[in-house]
Amino acid sequence: MTKKTYLHLDSPVQYIKGVGPKRATYFGKIGVETVHDLMRLVPRRYVDYSTVMKIRDVRINDEATVIGRIEIIEARRTRKRVHLVTSLLRDTTGSIVLKWFNRPDLRKKFKVGDSLLVSGKVTFYRSQQLINPLYEIIGEEETEQKKQGEVIPIYPLTEGLSIWDVRRAARIALDACLNEIRETLPQSLIDKHGLLQLRQATRHLHFPDDLKAAQAARRRLVYDEFFFFELTLARRKAKLQERTGIAFQETGTLTRQFIQKLPFTMTQGQATAMREIAADMQRERPMNRLLQGDVGSGKTVVSLYAILIAIENDYQAVLMAPTEILAEQHYLVLQELLSGIGIKPYLLTGSIKGKDRGLIADDISKGKAKLVLGTHALIEEDLTFDKLGLVVVDEQHRFGVMQRAALVGKGANPDFLVLSATPIPRTLALTLYGDLDISIIKEKPPKRGEVITKIVNDKEKPSTFAFIRNILSQGHQAFVICPIIEKSETTDLRSVQEVTEEITEAFPDFSVGIIHGRLSTADRMQIMNDYRLGKIAVLVATTVVEVGVDIPNATIMIIEHPERFGLAQLHQLRGRIGRGAQRSYCFLVLSRYLQSDTYERIEFFSKNSDGFALAQMDIKLRGPGQVLGKRQHGLPDINIGDLEFDRDLLYSARDDAFGLVKEDPDLSLPENHAARVELEHLAHRAELLRIG
Ligand code: ADP
Ligand code: MG
Repeated sequence: MTKKTYLHLDSPVQYIKGVGPKRATYFGKIGVETVHDLMRLVPRRYVDYSTVMKIRDVRINDEATVIGRIEIIEARRTRKRVHLVTSLLRDTTGSIVLKWFNRPDLRKKFKVGDSLLVSGKVTFYRSQQLINPLYEIIGEEETEQKKQGEVIPIYPLTEGLSIWDVRRAARIALDACLNEIRETLPQSLIDKHGLLQLRQATRHLHFPDDLKAAQAARRRLVYDEFFFFELTLARRKAKLQERTGIAFQETGTLTRQFIQKLPFTMTQGQATAMREIAADMQRERPMNRLLQGDVGSGKTVVSLYAILIAIENDYQAVLMAPTEILAEQHYLVLQELLSGIGIKPYLLTGSIKGKDRGLIADDISKGKAKLVLGTHALIEEDLTFDKLGLVVVDEQHRFGVMQRAALVGKGANPDFLVLSATPIPRTLALTLYGDLDISIIKEKPPKRGEVITKIVNDKEKPSTFAFIRNILSQGHQAFVICPIIEKSETTDLRSVQEVTEEITEAFPDFSVGIIHGRLSTADRMQIMNDYRLGKIAVLVATTVVEVGVDIPNATIMIIEHPERFGLAQLHQLRGRIGRGAQRSYCFLVLSRYLQSDTYERIEFFSKNSDGFALAQMDIKLRGPGQVLGKRQHGLPDINIGDLEFDRDLLYSARDDAFGLVKEDPDLSLPENHAARVELEHLAHRAELLRIG
């Protein structure tokens, strides 16, 4: 007797005929656990088989797509020491040479016998060849499979799975369970955007009649993803707005004095942001605002204005920073800025312990500490406030949403302000900070010197040092950034230790200081203070100085191993110079033996000073997760949609979701029932992922 298994949407993929436990683990690697996941697995792209050419028919200068089997694969270095992977690809009609430069990884990726789909422009050098073609490893092709359609989805794959495995499983899953799929969107939205029904979209996703059908299917699923993401945000925002917060008065007792004593006038952008923030604070609902501005645009002063509004209303304020050194910097700077108006900031970080911490915590809970600066240490449960009215978080993308909630929870619906120097594209802002209102400072304070960025190699160091020596003699200061603190056996990276020796030798007439995360708070503050006062001329540091450090007299920065840093991070580092009126110089020390794409990335950085362009490129190269850090808990993921490519769909989905919540906050209308069920399902899933 054969045992019959019934497949459901929730069945593990292992029960699909032909999959089994071993293949199921491969499916798991591409995020497919259940039949439902498989149905929602969106192909990376599609190949129209009618456009695939026989190798025999390929001509020079054609843009050709061919499929064949790898007959030979080899790797070597050219005379110019460039990595070259060469392969011979054969189909039933002939063979063609494939060449990839600077992709040594491909040597291991491809095996003789693999079926490869490649496309590129045909050139000739001894024989016909494709240089750096796009490729897909498609595994064993089965003729029977091909008959199923001309347009073949290329799925995200992992070793052990071929697109044919996925395709076969998808066919069985669709046949068994397509009817179980329930529509998730209100019909009105489906009509409005001319979307496919979910069931239809699911079928076309895997077995489209043509490319157009495949695109329509993807469009529907991308819309769904964006829509439910934004719906989550819209509901979160609606809930926040229901709360009663503090209606602050701009009394002027502190704010007016502060503005009068400032040694500069606010830029237009700062003034506008200040007005927006002040207006928010006067309202009775809690403020939830993001203040975005490139490094050096002057966000600190603006946030200080907000802080003073809170304090002049007899509330407490906190400013939380992502690193101890940044909190310490804020402390030094604010101490000075606020000394004239009699406000004494407190500092509380993880390094402050025991009796010291006890005294500070006491002043905080009694309300004596009006302004508290610090790090994650501020979140600790036993720390209580007397009357917390404003929470400012600097560079929040490093904090999770949970931490945000924990800090805000220390007050009774305090106002909340996030400062971010990561100039994220609007699309990303809508997703990442979609439940916040946004103020943007576009311009920088006037009279900033330009920053000249130059790539140098080891050989050019003596002349670079001579140049720097000259600038140091004029009384300016320099940063030297290294990726690691100490020399280690396992890497060739130059360390703070090693570089300090080199610098001390190269600049015998100047004092050299060292700073990194392993020093104590007291030592770090001492060193930064000495540097601020000019007692230290050259400061060798790790990336602890990445954000917030503000020394206008520092006009030189040397970055060792810039290839180790992301573009956004390099931009932050470089933002430490060019803060005064003089011209500044940033030197990127790059080894001569690097992959060309690394060189291109660093070169892009050296030619671009626009934080926005750099962030966008960084996100493109490394993905939003890498650039922006922490995954935002409690939100569905964006996996299918591409924030740039699908931008218009994102904007629509956002408007639709926010519109829907405005009309029907609890999604209780019958036409929104499906959306509500889906939202609950997604929330449940997110929760499971969080726990699991
Ligand atoms: P951000 O935090 O946005 O990177 P900061 O708030 O640290 O920038 O400001 C950078 C520097 O510019 C500080 O030295 C600050 O005192 C100065 N600054 C801020 N606003 C102005 C202004 N309107 N005019 C001149 N200098 C300013
Ligand atoms: Mg700042």
